[in-house]
Amino acid sequence: MAKRTRVKDIFTGRIGQEYRVMGWVRTFRNNQFIALNDGSCLANLQVVVDFENTDPDLLKRITTGASLSILGNLIASQGKGQSVELSATEITVLGDCDAEIYPLQPKKHSLEFLREIAHLRFRTNTFSAVFRVRHALAYAIHKFFNDRNFVYLHSPIITGSDAEGAGEMFQVTTLDLNKVPKNDDGSINFKKDFFAKATNLTVSGQLEAELGALALSDVYTFGPTFRAENSNTSRHLAEFWMIEPEVAFNDLNDNMDLAEDMLKYLISYALDNCAEDLVFLEQRLTEEEKVKPQQERSEMALTEKLRFCLDQPFERLTYTEAIEILKNSTPNKKGKFQYPIEKWGADLQSEHERYLVEKHFKKPVILTNYPKEIKAFYMRMDDDGKTVRAMDVLFPGIGEIIGGSQREERYDVLLSRMKEMHIPAEEMSWFLDTRRFGTVPHAGFGLGFERLVQFVTGMTNIRDVIPFPRFPGNAEF
Ligand code: ATP
Ligand code: MN
Repeated sequence: MAKRTRVKDIFTGRIGQEYRVMGWVRTFRNNQFIALNDGSCLANLQVVVDFENTDPDLLKRITTGASLSILGNLIASQGKGQSVELSATEITVLGDCDAEIYPLQPKKHSLEFLREIAHLRFRTNTFSAVFRVRHALAYAIHKFFNDRNFVYLHSPIITGSDAEGAGEMFQVTTLDLNKVPKNDDGSINFKKDFFAKATNLTVSGQLEAELGALALSDVYTFGPTFRAENSNTSRHLAEFWMIEPEVAFNDLNDNMDLAEDMLKYLISYALDNCAEDLVFLEQRLTEEEKVKPQQERSEMALTEKLRFCLDQPFERLTYTEAIEILKNSTPNKKGKFQYPIEKWGADLQSEHERYLVEKHFKKPVILTNYPKEIKAFYMRMDDDGKTVRAMDVLFPGIGEIIGGSQREERYDVLLSRMKEMHIPAEEMSWFLDTRRFGTVPHAGFGLGFERLVQFVTGMTNIRDVIPFPRFPGNAEF
């Protein structure tokens, strides 16, 4: 048996040469033309069957969804739509597929329906393209950091600290929920639990990354994070992947530069390496947008929007400046915001972030120096005592894609912030130790991987850019 050649490589194969391909039937036309796909690229390989000399029982088994192994000779294509095709000399059915009950018919299915059959949706053009792009971006992230001498740090997924402060956590326990051991005062006795303490799934690897950065200087994490927030939005998952670089000796400006360089690198990597998939996803998005009302349609096609982000510096401004813009904005004055902006200190909602990016500046925006009340305890206090050195990167169609900050490196200031915000300092002595023993200025951020994949692929719902999404009420597959 000749070795398998991937469909992707067949397109640059040698005419006249014999190849073996394996894959799944997308369609079988006129008992003669098989469109075969093996996921190695978007395009199907056209396989020509000599139906007059093929066993009719075999022909019947070539149905949409069936898997085949085919030996054949590569020939220049007679028809239009492809440059080469394979003239089959031997066809073996690897797995039959009953077309009567196969959920993926060769027609257009809604994304909602495909989400219900997420175990099969990889076999569609849309999802195979999305997951190839997702892979390319994951690879590019490691390449970006490796080229810059960062160390990839694996932060724990089960955490014993409940002070990460980024959201509601999922508890991890082996206690029998039907007979939970109690202390005398009625509280749960976690001493009896697996780790002899209460544990959770991590919401962020940042605190651990900080520990690494204060020795290795440049580190990043890239792993799953979990939030039990009950938000049924198109931008939130209960399980998502986050990239968190943390760099010693960096200040807020260095942090913004790193975030901007990284996002631009990743977007251009996708443009350079995923051209076929992006052109397809662009057409898909344009079709999807046709049914939307005019004012909700994007002014730019997908790849145009991606290039647009590369061409100019991101707009950088402070929270205070942004509040002024928002206060005086037309939607605010006309009462169009669901959460009107009345005064300094207001937390920004997605509608405000998107107004700044899509309507006001019309490019990615980095907002900095937020009020301390609406940000985490570990962010470095500004000299005014009112704002902290936070930064959020806001993207068109997405809103917040990155959240980060310069960290509070001064022991006394950090400790008093923790007290103010009721963070149990005793339980976090390990974190405070870095500020006691050779502290340095440092900064970092978290990039939500799925939000990046959403932006690059133009998929509207975050549930369509992760293979098996977890969200309230759903943990299928
Ligand atoms: P948001 O305000 O959008 O809920 P956040 O401020 O809670 O996000 P951070 O704690 O700053 O988010 O997390 C860093 C990044 O992780 C965010 O910028 C975003 O890209 C991503 N992210 C946060 N929560 C989620 C989620 N539930 N699902 C997917 N990505 C998320
Ligand atoms: Mn944030």
